[in-house]
Amino acid sequence: MISRRDFLATLAKLAATAGGAGMILCSPSWQKFLFGDNSALAFGDTYLDELIRSAPKARYWKPVTLKNSASPQEGKIVQCLLCANGCVMANGQRGKCRTRMNVNGDLKSLVYGRPISIHVDPIEKKPFYHYLPGSAAFSLATAGCPLRCKFCQNWEISQASPEDNQISYTPPVGIVNAAQTIKAPVIAFTYNEPTVFTEYLTDIARDAKKQGIHSVLISCGFMNEAPLAEMCNVLDGVKIDLKSYSDDFYRNVCGAQLRPVLRSIKQIAKSRVHLEIVNLVVPTLNDSDKMLQGLIDWIAGEVGPDVPVHFTRFHPDYQLRNLPPTPVATLERAYHMAMSKGIHYPYVGNVPDHPGNHTYCPNCKKIVIKRQGFFITEMNLAGGRCKFCKHKIAGVWA
Ligand code: SF4
Repeated sequence: MISRRDFLATLAKLAATAGGAGMILCSPSWQKFLFGDNSALAFGDTYLDELIRSAPKARYWKPVTLKNSASPQEGKIVQCLLCANGCVMANGQRGKCRTRMNVNGDLKSLVYGRPISIHVDPIEKKPFYHYLPGSAAFSLATAGCPLRCKFCQNWEISQASPEDNQISYTPPVGIVNAAQTIKAPVIAFTYNEPTVFTEYLTDIARDAKKQGIHSVLISCGFMNEAPLAEMCNVLDGVKIDLKSYSDDFYRNVCGAQLRPVLRSIKQIAKSRVHLEIVNLVVPTLNDSDKMLQGLIDWIAGEVGPDVPVHFTRFHPDYQLRNLPPTPVATLERAYHMAMSKGIHYPYVGNVPDHPGNHTYCPNCKKIVIKRQGFFITEMNLAGGRCKFCKHKIAGVWA
């Protein structure tokens, strides 16, 4: 477990090297620090030309034959099968996420090896509260997202196109080596929707596993079954944003649908991968008793009481700057509704120092993990059990 002091020292070193604090957009100096000097890449006429030329063939797509066309190659139309959008693309077109492009009848990934954003976070920030607590997570994102959430807090990268920021190619081994260099036990795919870089993330996770580094995914869960199965084979933990239990909310606020997300959550729950769920509670849009109860009932019935559920506070951002932050009382209401439905580990998120940040033993009700912000101040857990009553606490602890 990395200490708070070591963690801050690492972060300060990275931030100083990159020329600023906060989320690090890959700068030349930062890339040199972690990956060595690979700035001598020969770019083409434009960065987009270079991206298209070097983009590997994507996984999860099929050629589409038009009714009056003799062969798929004739029209060179493809359908992406990576997420539930199922984009159909003519030659030269891209999907809704902007990251996958039909290039002469082949679907290519424009974001493979192009991490737009890198940071070292406490794993609690993801949030994972029941997965290797106190670990530093080497976190990365590319551009792009299949959704259009009006409240997105990372919209500068999720709604960016791959060519908006010029990033040198970084192979999977470069990410793994960088995580090793700073002694991060976990690599996290996060910030944008990592499904759009599924080829890159699964290749990184495979390499990381060989070096004893864990990999976790922070996702909206909108991917299809086959790519999720591949991810579950190589990942160790997944956090899914269940944004609401309302299809109308998904369609009107996120440009997506509810059903694929529920399907993904059930698939992960049945796999060996650790699962946590987050519900961002947005005032007036998904904070009614009816909506919260529907979500809680579904989780309790379909994935069981041991999956941690974080009710997190919304802050005005992107296209929803007109709404106020979520009242803490609303999050407390959701927390108590979940408790009374039998969910063992509900949390109040994005409210520093709230008692709902701690992990309580479901048996003796004592605090087994006490948190202050994203840091652990008290650990009453031994061998995955409550120190006071020896009750087993669900999670991955070592
Ligand atoms: S991953 Fe992108 S291209 Fe593929 S279906 Fe989803 S939005 Fe469309």
